[in-house]
Amino acid sequence: MKPVNHPPSERLLAYATGTADVPLRLLLETHLSFCPDCGRELGRLAEPGGTVLEAMPEAPVPSALFDRIWAEASQHEPPRPVEGVPLPPSVLAELPPPERWNWHSVLGSGSRTARLVREAPGGCGLFLVQIQPGARFPRHAHQGGEEGMVLAGGVWDRGRFLEAGDWNSAPAGSTHELIADPKEGCWALVREECEDVRLSGWRGVLQRAASLLSH
Ligand SMILES: [Zn+2]
Repeated sequence: MKPVNHPPSERLLAYATGTADVPLRLLLETHLSFCPDCGRELGRLAEPGGTVLEAMPEAPVPSALFDRIWAEASQHEPPRPVEGVPLPPSVLAELPPPERWNWHSVLGSGSRTARLVREAPGGCGLFLVQIQPGARFPRHAHQGGEEGMVLAGGVWDRGRFLEAGDWNSAPAGSTHELIADPKEGCWALVREECEDVRLSGWRGVLQRAASLLSH
């Protein structure tokens, strides 16, 4: 089934012009492996006279650029499951091996997260999130924006049900919770603008206490 929710054009443009940071690039490559529509959109942006050229007016365009973009837009390999997670081979090649993924459980919630890529200390990061069938990832606030996509299963977020390939974003300062599909659970890949994700309620009290103790 094709994704219903897609990254905004300016994110595809950042990908095409090479200005996306590593977590964003890997997230977009993963979405492209699920979504032929966005592959075509990327090609359209990169056509002669398209938006990519307008976005880079100051420099001569390398002749190989369009070839590279077309190749990337048209040759995304389908994702394959690794440890139960469907990720495209090109993305897996840039991640640490699955045995080094450092999982953290979110206390009493049936969910866990692992940071796969860190752009800079305190900067943005790419995370894998697994939520057990029917479980709830507790309400939390984002200091920075969050963008992500469902890799497998499905999840409810702010009244919408998202399935494999669907793109999702939560602006800086927003608060939300996630509830996984009751049968399949949910795997998601998420880029956090700022790694300071604050849990609400009693988990938040424990989270803040734990961070005080660790200093
Ligand atoms: Zn798409």
